[in-house]
Amino acid sequence: MTIKKINVILFAAAIISLCSCNAQKNTNDKSSDEAFTRDVFAMDTYMNLKAYGSNAESALKKAENRISELEKTLSVTSEGSDIWKLNHSGGEYVSVSDDTIELIKKAEEVGKETDGALDITLYPLLKEWGFTTGDYKIPDTRMLNELLNNVDYSKIKIEGENVTLPPDVEIDLGALAKGYTGDEVISIISSCGVDSAIVSLGGNVQALGSKPDGSDWKVAVRDPFAPETDMCVVEISGKAVITSGNYERFFTGDDGKNYWHILDPNDGYPADNGLVSVTVIGKNGLECDALSTALFVCGYDKTIDYLKKHPENDVILVTDDKKVYYSDGIADKFTNISDMPAEVIAVD
Ligand code: AMP
Ligand code: MG
Repeated sequence: MTIKKINVILFAAAIISLCSCNAQKNTNDKSSDEAFTRDVFAMDTYMNLKAYGSNAESALKKAENRISELEKTLSVTSEGSDIWKLNHSGGEYVSVSDDTIELIKKAEEVGKETDGALDITLYPLLKEWGFTTGDYKIPDTRMLNELLNNVDYSKIKIEGENVTLPPDVEIDLGALAKGYTGDEVISIISSCGVDSAIVSLGGNVQALGSKPDGSDWKVAVRDPFAPETDMCVVEISGKAVITSGNYERFFTGDDGKNYWHILDPNDGYPADNGLVSVTVIGKNGLECDALSTALFVCGYDKTIDYLKKHPENDVILVTDDKKVYYSDGIADKFTNISDMPAEVIAVD
């Protein structure tokens, strides 16, 4: 093919890609500050997308299509999804999408970095507790120990686009799929020429740029002891604010105790290491989501060890004795609006 032909094709492709977002961004356009919103229910989650400017409406439509696509690929229950195929593969190789590969690789990376606190092969235990159906029960310890024999993310083998799981291993990407979806949504909205948007995927907030007036977005984080109210506000631009909490999905057992949906891969019981809520703030939503779950399992001290190595991410932690701790990187962006005392984390 000649260089000229290639240029014509590239030019045509550029036009098509602009058309699919309706129009090029026009900063002089008065409508450039107009907000468009879209409510989406997907991944068992209420999502709200908001974008500003002349291309916002079509950008949000494209984003919604991508959410549906990812839901079909990543769902653990829909027959035919990548994850369903893997969990029913009987040990055979399964060819999966790039999205699935990226998520599994990130889960392995964060799993390694947190000594196995994040382990996507916990799925059989989540089923046993009833967290996948809402049909809750406290399993007996012997059953949990038996199921734990097959929990080990290092048993997942990836070769190119093929993934293999041993026959009794099953995975679930619930701990990190929404962070990845948020990244994809932000990237699609941005590629349509929009530079100001904010999306909430069930409380996981991700921002594109700053507000149209140039100021930071104000993102509220829920009080884990009173989840209908907010406990603090953090100001961000171009970042994700992602929370894992014990109040998000839990049940009260016959013994009067609460059991929640984030399990400790060491014993198969809900992680109870002193933290009731972990918020991770950073540029990469996928990483923040994987980390919020992993650090919830790790507890306070190991979270501080993690922060020493990764100052690029910030955290807001709430302990079970009702104290709030936040990292130095967001000290001037953090406002406590709760009755709980809040202090900066001393990393050294
Ligand atoms: P998140 O709300 O992002 O913290 O994700 C919690 C979800 O991840 C749970 O509802 C489970 O589906 C799954 N999960 C629970 N514990 C773990 C764990 N230790 N490692 C990986 N996934 C987990
Ligand atoms: Mg998470």
